[in-house]
Amino acid sequence: MTTSAAATRSVKSNAGTRLYKLLPLLALLPCVAYPAVAQNTPRRLVVVDAGHGGVDPGAHGPAGMREKHVTLAVSRELARILRQDTTLEVRMTRDSDTLIALRDRTRMANRWRGGERPALFVSIHCNANHNPAGYGFETYFLSEAKTEDARRVAAMENAAEKYEEKPAQGGSPLSFILNDLKQNLYLRESSSWAEQIQHRLGEVHPGRNRGVKQAGFYVLNGAFMPAVLVEIGFITNAAEERVLADATMQGRIAERLAYSIYDYFRTPAPTPIARGR
Ligand SMILES: [Zn+2]
Repeated sequence: MTTSAAATRSVKSNAGTRLYKLLPLLALLPCVAYPAVAQNTPRRLVVVDAGHGGVDPGAHGPAGMREKHVTLAVSRELARILRQDTTLEVRMTRDSDTLIALRDRTRMANRWRGGERPALFVSIHCNANHNPAGYGFETYFLSEAKTEDARRVAAMENAAEKYEEKPAQGGSPLSFILNDLKQNLYLRESSSWAEQIQHRLGEVHPGRNRGVKQAGFYVLNGAFMPAVLVEIGFITNAAEERVLADATMQGRIAERLAYSIYDYFRTPAPTPIARGR
């Protein structure tokens, strides 16, 4: 017994000595238990949606540039810029060359938003036209198309649905009406953000400012937050295809899109719904 007790004391003593020696090292450990940022403030969400991807290449230019590659490059740069602001949570619907169904993109955005916190959704695309003279940039929000050209652009972007294995079914008339009512709350917000985007892109884009437009884009339908689709230029126009393929210009476009988001969050809301209530 005596031998055993001495052995126990010896073990305790050794353990105490080891702990004592380790104490100075504890000061080197990061204070993981005490995060510097308050956990209670929900971060504002920005969802960056790179148009097309995978088997859906989108439009292509005369030199062979694919829309899906341009949209991913600009989206990645936009996300990189925005992530420097730690008050924002930035999510990408895709960060690789893969196909995401149109309706899944806003579903993901709604899920990421979770509760009632400020959020924005931007879908990035390149325009295309049979007329190679078409050029410039325009921003859409979801509403009934007012012009033939807006209808054409929506039909072109909605055609991406043909690549999806299971195109979404229409849903019940009631759910459609409820969605419509809910989304109407964000129309003014989406429209004013679209104006800011056009203004900002106009600072760097060599093409024509074609203005803010509205049309029925599937990819914006179902987003319970301000949502826009930006056509950052005509990939079918040879000169504009070069602009869209240029890494410096992609960076400038992404930077101006980021500025429009900062503008949006700093601007007082024109309606109480604006900040996500
Ligand atoms: Zn597109």
